Amino acid sequence: MLSKSKFTRGMNCQKSLWLYVHKKDERIVDEALQTVLARGTNVGELARQYFPNGKMAVLEDYPSFESVKRTQEFINQGVEVIYEATFIFDNTLVAVDILAKVNGKWNLYEVKSTKSVKDQHIIDVAVQYYVIKGSGLPLKNAHVMHLNGDYVRRGEIEIQKLFIIDDGTVQSKIELLQSEIERDIKLLSAIENDNIEPIVKMGSQCTSPYSCDFYDYCNSLLPVVEEESVELSSIPEVQQNEVKLFVNSIQYPLCHLDFETIMPAIPMFDESRPYQQIPFQYSLHSQETQDSEIKHEYYLAENNPNIDPRKALIKQMIAQTKNAKTIFVYYAPFERGRINEMIKDFPEFKKELELIVAKLVDLIIPFKKKFYRTETMKGSSSIKKVLPALNPEFSYSELEIGNGMAASNAFLNLYNCDDKDLIEKTRENLLKYCHLDTLAMVKIFEVLQKV
Ligand code: SF4
Repeated sequence: MLSKSKFTRGMNCQKSLWLYVHKKDERIVDEALQTVLARGTNVGELARQYFPNGKMAVLEDYPSFESVKRTQEFINQGVEVIYEATFIFDNTLVAVDILAKVNGKWNLYEVKSTKSVKDQHIIDVAVQYYVIKGSGLPLKNAHVMHLNGDYVRRGEIEIQKLFIIDDGTVQSKIELLQSEIERDIKLLSAIENDNIEPIVKMGSQCTSPYSCDFYDYCNSLLPVVEEESVELSSIPEVQQNEVKLFVNSIQYPLCHLDFETIMPAIPMFDESRPYQQIPFQYSLHSQETQDSEIKHEYYLAENNPNIDPRKALIKQMIAQTKNAKTIFVYYAPFERGRINEMIKDFPEFKKELELIVAKLVDLIIPFKKKFYRTETMKGSSSIKKVLPALNPEFSYSELEIGNGMAASNAFLNLYNCDDKDLIEKTRENLLKYCHLDTLAMVKIFEVLQKV
């Protein structure tokens, strides 16, 4: 039998549906997908408060015939809000995030953890509408309920402001799809029940709207193309004058700054919005003069969900950078963007933060403009490619936390962790990772100075 998730999976890729049914062991739910799933669950649970005091139809792990029965009982009893209301029709089972009576008419609300209605949501709601109508419930409208990107938390979360319900555009789109849904259910049911793996070419559907959880499996089936092994040269090609101009424009004292951020879908702190990047950590290497000792300092917030990491970070960053004439960052739009948000959210620090923004210099420039390149960088100016090309002894590969997303997830997980050893180990790994980011910048600048 099809379910809503199998239907939407099959609409994106028929092979993905078949693999999900017949070769589930090949599925890889990586960290990024896990984050998306967990985020969806949290947002979905919170959205129920928009229609409070509802009854839950799904008491098992998954929607089932029992939840269909329970839904019908609730409807018969006159319940007006049902969470995970489950229906079956045309060999398809769907559970609706929220089914609510508004002005005496049933409406369905599909909750999404995005900041707008996306194309892939339409098909998702269209199949729910088809099944519910087909099962005999007089359904007035179907809606998508999503996060309001402009909502700023101040105090307790205001559910009615945090979520936005579409204004009817979803309903008009799904009505046009109803006859196709009937045809697609027939087609996908046949694929689900077939014993032969469908042949589907890998393409854009493998990475959009999500990375497919069978990507590695399909990729492993591709014929291996023997690549001629070409030794890439690590000899730098340097535009000396340009590099010298860049280096000579740098004034001491200087420091190297790098932020790590979390991006909670539901704002955790006052003066923050859904998916705002909240800096929780920085690493700072500083040097008074070219010959003086390099000092390292850092900030790593307490993993206490009741404490906004930003205010203490701002105060410490202002104090530790106040003497610098140059503040190096690698890819300035990121750090500049975060500091500009701090100015907006904490205007009491506006003057000092604007001073920091004015001192930012992007260390990526000589590499982006190809003033300094090696073949081993493969045309990239990312610090992960530039660092090993310039300083092969430094590498991120040994680190337990080796990229920004892993750092973000690791810190977010600490908020719900009470294992002291794990907390200590994770904090240590976060410090090592962020430390390497600014140490890398120190080493990269040293190489440029020697040109
Ligand atoms: S990797 Fe691509 S082709 Fe393979 S199942 Fe997923 S979406 Fe389909």
